[in-house]
Amino acid sequence: MKLLPFAALGAVLVCASQLSAQTPQTWAIAVHGGAGVIERKSMTAEMESEYRVGIRMAINAGGAVLARGGSALDAIEAVIQILEDDPNFNAGRGAVFTADGRNELDAAIMDGATLKAGAVAGVTRTRHPISLARAVMEKSPHVFLAGTGADAFSKQAGLEQVDPSYFFTERRWQSLIKQLSKEGLPFPKRPAGVHSDPRTPVAEVESPDVHKYGTVGVVALDRNGNLAAGTSTGGTQAKRWGRIGDSPIIGAGTYASNASCAVSATGTGEYFIRLTVARTVCALVEYKGLTLQQAADEVIHKQLDALHGDGGLIAIDPMGHIAWSFNTPGMFRAQLRAGGKLSIAIYNDEP
Ligand code: ASP
Repeated sequence: MKLLPFAALGAVLVCASQLSAQTPQTWAIAVHGGAGVIERKSMTAEMESEYRVGIRMAINAGGAVLARGGSALDAIEAVIQILEDDPNFNAGRGAVFTADGRNELDAAIMDGATLKAGAVAGVTRTRHPISLARAVMEKSPHVFLAGTGADAFSKQAGLEQVDPSYFFTERRWQSLIKQLSKEGLPFPKRPAGVHSDPRTPVAEVESPDVHKYGTVGVVALDRNGNLAAGTSTGGTQAKRWGRIGDSPIIGAGTYASNASCAVSATGTGEYFIRLTVARTVCALVEYKGLTLQQAADEVIHKQLDALHGDGGLIAIDPMGHIAWSFNTPGMFRAQLRAGGKLSIAIYNDEP
C-alpha cells in the first residue's frame, strides 16, 4: 500500500519525461540587413519604413518555417531569398556595383548540426545566391565555388538564372558614380539592357553612405535544436580586381556549429577575414565559456576596434540566446522567437 504513491509518482515522472522528450524545443531567429554609417539624419521616414517592412516580412517568413518545425537551413534560405529580391538590400537585386559596373554576388550557408557548408563568390546570373550556396553544400563535393565556374554549376543545378541586368538598381548605380567621382576613378558604361528608372530620379538619391550597405544575414535555431547561419551580399561598393569579402568565407562572415553558436557578420570584410570573426565568436563561447553576448562584444568592441575595422554581427546559441554587436552608427537587425514579440531596430541607440 505504501509503495503505491511511489509507483504512481514513478508513472507520472515517466510520462513527464516522455512528454518533455516529445515537446518541441524552442525556436529563435535573428536577421541583419547590413551595418554602417546608417544615421537618422541620412534616412527619410519613407526609407526607414521600407527597411523595417522589408526586414519584418523576411523574418516573419523565417519564423513561420521554424514554428511549423522546419529546419534552421530552410528558415535561413527563406529569409535571405526575400531580402535578395528586395532592392533596398545589398544582396541579389539591389546589390552594389563593382568599380567596372558589375554586380558580383557572394553568399554562404552553414549547417551547425553537421558542419557542412556551401559558399559562392563573384556570381552574376543566379537570382538567389543563397540557394546556390546551399546547392554547393548539398549537391557538390565542394564547399566554395567562385566566378564563372560557380555560374556554370548554378545552371547545371537547375537554379533560376537571370540576366545580369536583373540586379541593377538606379540608386546603387548613382551611389557608385558618386563614389567613383570622389575617388577620381573612371565611370563605367551603364550596363547593357538597363534604362533609367523613372521611379528613382537621380535627385532623390539620398546620402550615398546608406547605399553602400545592406548585406543580409540570418542565424537560426530550429525545434530540433539545430543551428544554422547564412549571409548574402554584393560586397563593398566599387570593389575591384575580383575582390571577395568575408561573407562567403566560412569562419569569417558566416559560421555555425551546434557545439557553440551560429554567426553572420556584416561590415568591411577585409577586417572580418583577418579576425576570422564568426569562428572566433564561437570559439570564445566553446573554449572560454563566454556568454554569447560577451563573445560578440569581445570580437567587435575589442578586436575589431583595435584594427579600426567597422561592422557588426548577429549570433545565436543552442539555448536560443541571441546577441548582436556592432561598432557603427547603425545596423539593420531583428529578432523573433517562439512565443515572443518581434523586435526590429536600426540605430545604435535602440535596444
Ligand atoms: N561584409 C561585406 C563584404 O565585405 C559587406 C558588408 O557587410 O557591408 O563584402
